[in-house]
Order: sequence, then C-alpha cells, then structure tokens
Amino acid sequence: MGSSWKLGSLFGVPIRMHWTAIVGALFFSGFRIAPGAWLGFLIVILVHELGHALVVKATKQRVLGVEVHGYGGHCEWSGNPTPLGRASIAWGGVWAQMGLFVLALPLAVMFSGGGSSHLDDLLRALTVNNLFLAGINLIPVRPLDGAEAWKLFPLLRARWNASRRSAPRRPVIEVKGPVGAPKATAPKVVNPPAQGGDLSPELRALFAKVAADARDARHKRN
Ligand SMILES: [Zn+2]
Repeated sequence: MGSSWKLGSLFGVPIRMHWTAIVGALFFSGFRIAPGAWLGFLIVILVHELGHALVVKATKQRVLGVEVHGYGGHCEWSGNPTPLGRASIAWGGVWAQMGLFVLALPLAVMFSGGGSSHLDDLLRALTVNNLFLAGINLIPVRPLDGAEAWKLFPLLRARWNASRRSAPRRPVIEVKGPVGAPKATAPKVVNPPAQGGDLSPELRALFAKVAADARDARHKRN
C-alpha cells in the first residue's frame, strides 16, 4: 500500500487512499470539475471495500486494511475461509453497494433537481453510477469480484442438498380426523405391549397370591 494516505480507522480497520483515487474520480466524472461526483465515486468505492471487510469479519477472518484507489479499491485480509466464506466475501462489496443504493434512492428522489448541481452529481453517483459499478464488478472475470462471487449459488445448493441427505428421517404419522372437522385430533399415545416377564409389581403380587392360595387348598385337601 505505497503512496497512499491514511484517512482514519473504522472498527479497527485502517482506511487508506491511494493517489490514483483522484485520477479514478476524475475519470468517472468525465473529467469535469465536479466535486459532488468525485465524492460520490470515493464513497461508493469505500463502502464497497468496507462491505468486503465486514464479511471478512463475519466469516471469522482477519481484516488488515482497506484502500481506495483509482481503479476501484482493495480490502486486504488474511485467513483461510471455506469456499462458501470466500464467495460471501467476494459478494460483500456489492452487498454494501446495494445497501448504499437503498439508502440513497429516497434522498435522490427527494432532493435531485433542487438547484445544486453538486448535490445532483453526488446523488447520481450514489444511485445510478453505483448500480453501474456493481454490475461491472459482477462480470465473472478476474480480478473482478464476479470471478469468485457467482460460485456462491452452486455452493449453497450443494450444502442444501447435503443437509437434506443427512437430516434424520422422521416417521410420518398420518392423522385422520372426522370429515369436515376443523382440526385433526391428536393421535392417541398407546403404550407398547409389555414383553414377557415384564409384569407390573401389582400383577406379580396377584399371581403370587393366587399360587399361594392354590397351594394352601392342595395342603388342606391332603
Ligand atoms: Zn470488491
């Protein structure tokens, strides 16, 4: 991260800006003197990289820093996430851009065309240009995030299928209620029949008494 300035830290993540970010902002504003558009570009890139950083943290990996530069930005992190975690980290940037879009859209509807061209430029950068950049970034070609991000869906499907295969099968209890009944009655729980030799103490005592009486009767006859 050479030739860059430290802007500050957010949640312990150092944020830096590379000098080429100024060139990028100029390029995306069509080389106009448009501070609103420049600021919007820098905000979109910064939010994108912080989105990556957030998912890096959520997947229990380590964020080393975030840098905004002329051709986008960079979130430096270390760790060894699962393929699913890696694909989620790739999505983090675009997810954050979507969040920014949702927040900025009502502001753009309310305040665009209010007379300030700088504010218009800023709001356009946070909405239309933001979506455009997200779309470009999802093209599945390295080094764009799309190269990694689209693996998320086959990975999620594989995990879903695996969890369905390994789930314990529950016996299906069919409950038939009377026709037209609003609710099926709860199935009756029937105790399993006692196995041989598994008599209750009461029954065992009764059998012992009957046997003793029979013995007594035999003795009396003899
Ligand atoms: Zn990214």
